[in-house]
Amino acid sequence: MTSNASNSGLSCTSCGQNSVIEIAMTLPDDTEVVFCSCHVCEARWWDKEGERIDVDGIIDIVGN
Ligand SMILES: [Zn+2]
Repeated sequence: MTSNASNSGLSCTSCGQNSVIEIAMTLPDDTEVVFCSCHVCEARWWDKEGERIDVDGIIDIVGN
């Protein structure tokens, strides 16, 4: 793999599997967030300072 994605050992909150990829990103407003994606069930969510945010929620932040 050549990406900077890392598997932190996080458990997916949807299926419970240990196949969650985390990708750290910085939003245009300098908010640091982590994009999480499960390989097993394809659940996707964002983590902002320990708070889980739905994909729709991050669009609200980015759109501002
Ligand atoms: Zn999953």
